[in-house]
Amino acid sequence: MKSIQDVSFKGKRVLMRVDFNVPLDENGKVTDDTRIRESIASIQKIVNDGAKLILMSHLGRPKGKVNLSMSLEPVAEQLSKLVGKKVHFERELISEQTIKEIEKLNWGDIMLLENIRFYAGEESGDEDFSARLASLGDAYVNDAFGTAHRAHASTTIVAKYFPKDKYFGYLMDNEIVNLEKVLSSNIHPYTAIIGGSKVSTKIDIIRNLIGRVDNMIIGGGMVFTFIKALGGNIGNSLFEEDKVEEARQTILEMVAHGVNLILPADIVAADKFANDANRQIVAAGEIPDGWMGLDIGPKAIKKATEVILNSSMVLWNGPMGVFEMDNFQNGTRSVAIAVATVTNAGGYSAIGGGDSVAAINKYDLSSMMSYISTGGGAMLEYLEGLKLPGIAAIED
Ligand code: AMP
Repeated sequence: MKSIQDVSFKGKRVLMRVDFNVPLDENGKVTDDTRIRESIASIQKIVNDGAKLILMSHLGRPKGKVNLSMSLEPVAEQLSKLVGKKVHFERELISEQTIKEIEKLNWGDIMLLENIRFYAGEESGDEDFSARLASLGDAYVNDAFGTAHRAHASTTIVAKYFPKDKYFGYLMDNEIVNLEKVLSSNIHPYTAIIGGSKVSTKIDIIRNLIGRVDNMIIGGGMVFTFIKALGGNIGNSLFEEDKVEEARQTILEMVAHGVNLILPADIVAADKFANDANRQIVAAGEIPDGWMGLDIGPKAIKKATEVILNSSMVLWNGPMGVFEMDNFQNGTRSVAIAVATVTNAGGYSAIGGGDSVAAINKYDLSSMMSYISTGGGAMLEYLEGLKLPGIAAIED
């Protein structure tokens, strides 16, 4: 892998794509700087080498137009605080003048460009725009895993202008190393826990994990399409009719490959989608009409916990129920605790997907996991076995 670890950027202008897509409050203040902090290691390395570092990122969805409510200026301020030195914010759009501004920087200085999605050429991957970006640097680094599945100008197309000088930043490196471990590990027993609302966004991952994992625990709203595929009654639970056949085929594939498929034995059913709904525990395939499954039940929790605690490697993507509502969080919380426990006992755990990450944060367990992916969509596509354009562009 082409990591920044292996080179010195002394005397070079380094153009680095980062993911500073952080939330801002109504006064334009950064409310959560996690993503900025995650890039600091790469930033420090390049600055300490004695390079001029030019950072580019998107924020929000300005759709190719200047929209100052999505300006990166507050991010430049926050980054200045985190690195303890001034970050030059380039307010003007990229032009000949930008190159002159970069010339004026001292070695070791940092410049942050304005929101890269203010340009229509970014998301369309425009060649001319990519060439203009490339003119700002002598080397290119991609440290934005969260957008690695997008073939945009700053994430992918620009890389070809640096055939000998393109690298992964530390964050990207770490994601690739861990996701490769998830996909090619020989550690067993290996358990995947897949949940969340939609079968359609997860079924390709489940299929790609067949032949790799020993146990497959399925929960969340998506489980009802599987239960329906087996002939169960699911009441008003979430359900994707056009995925039933694929769910059935996937079950057969799992059986054929000897994957131990664990569907919940019981379900917490509710009479409405609300925390104060009436609740009852029912067998998974026997949800009464008018009721909907919003969490896995106590028997299902017991089984999932046993399997997780007997694993040496765990991949978890997607909550087991509507964990945002306290009355339907038991399944997700119990799984989170079991994954943390097995990690503490020496197992390896990989967590991904915004909602599972939100769940482990809710239960304050994030420091107990081996690896938490920073990329939602990018991680999903990686686990589906797709080659991400932002990764391929550096490796080619
Ligand atoms: P996803 O983004 O597909 O990973 O789905 C995450 C969302 O699925 C969370 O907001 C959960 O509240 C929701 N979810 C989990 N289980 C259920 C369920 N049984 N019924 C409805 N929504 C669910």
